[in-house]
Amino acid sequence: MTTPWGLPDFDAHEAVDFFTDEATGLKAIIAIHSTHLGPAAGGARFWHYAKDEQALTDALRLSRGMSYKNAMAGLPLGGGKAVLLADAERSKSPDLLHAFGRAVDSLGGRYITAEDVGMSVADMIEIARSTKFVAGLPNSSGDVGGDPGPHTSLGVFLGIKAAVKWGLGKSSLSGLHIALQGAGSVATGVALHACAEGARLSIADVDQAKAQKLADRAGGKVVSPDEILTLEADVLSPCALGAVLDEQSIAKLQVPVVAGGANNQLATPDDGERLHKRNILYAPDYVINAGGIINVCTEYLGDGDATLVRRRIEGIPVRLEQIWAEGAEYGRDPAAVADKMAQRLIGRA
Ligand code: NAD
Repeated sequence: MTTPWGLPDFDAHEAVDFFTDEATGLKAIIAIHSTHLGPAAGGARFWHYAKDEQALTDALRLSRGMSYKNAMAGLPLGGGKAVLLADAERSKSPDLLHAFGRAVDSLGGRYITAEDVGMSVADMIEIARSTKFVAGLPNSSGDVGGDPGPHTSLGVFLGIKAAVKWGLGKSSLSGLHIALQGAGSVATGVALHACAEGARLSIADVDQAKAQKLADRAGGKVVSPDEILTLEADVLSPCALGAVLDEQSIAKLQVPVVAGGANNQLATPDDGERLHKRNILYAPDYVINAGGIINVCTEYLGDGDATLVRRRIEGIPVRLEQIWAEGAEYGRDPAAVADKMAQRLIGRA
């Protein structure tokens, strides 16, 4: 029998719950990695997995990433994540979302949900009919809350700027070539910010029409999903799904900087060292992509306004510089440095 404890991505998770609701077709996993700093917060992913094991792996990896992300962003929250197993058509009914809300509610506030891939603000409104442990809802005053995507994009954009300053000595993205993987919510904001500063974009998405739409809107060239990881560019910005940086892809990279919003970009911890050995500056994913959770957390906790959200997001490049400086001082790769910092913060070092 395979148990979660035996899986390579199990990392002393406090809880892994499986939920089924036959009437609505809900199959969901909620993984709580750590509540050391506060209730476990992290989005809900709605995705079709070829095998159920992949959903569990995602839940384990993503929830640990949330513990690290929330800690490194200085938030009073632990880390958790929900994964909803979608059918091949990725159909989603209000009843299924209500059932998921009941699942979240049954954990009594140890897990707070929000948007992730495949989940929208409208979905959060449905989920909120069954639980109060949900964020990423529209806010009547319009300043804190709603779609975390634009806040994530802003943090990623500021992180890219910090990376090109640190790695290439450039204080602007003007004239730089950015290879953008993905054309979804996060990638769109990154593209618009980067273009406004004069960057040149190559964009790839498995949904070619989406990539074209973004290229038309932001200015940029569409390339195929196979091509994006091998393009010669100044920055590779992975803003789609995880595990895109592995032994094979890293060997073929033709960029000095990797800085993007996707969660779990490194397939294995060794891949951080591989990037380092190739002299490619890496912005650890859970540090650079914390803008959304910063907004969500500020909304959920009700402890600040849009100015505070902006100030917290502006802390992202500062944290990245701390990581790169510590890495440079001790000759260690930034991903490993960030992990150690985060583990110290959640009491696991
Ligand atoms: P999204 O669903 O809006 O966009 C993801 C896009 O990636 C889709 O257009 C999809 O077609 C595309 N895609 C999937 N596989 C691809 C591939 N192999 N090559 C190219 N494109 C591919 O999701 P999003 O909200 O933009 O999130 C993107 C990434 O950022 C995810 O890893 C997510 O976990 C992470 N993230 C998102 C947020 C947020 O606030 N939305 C916050 C932190 C991290």
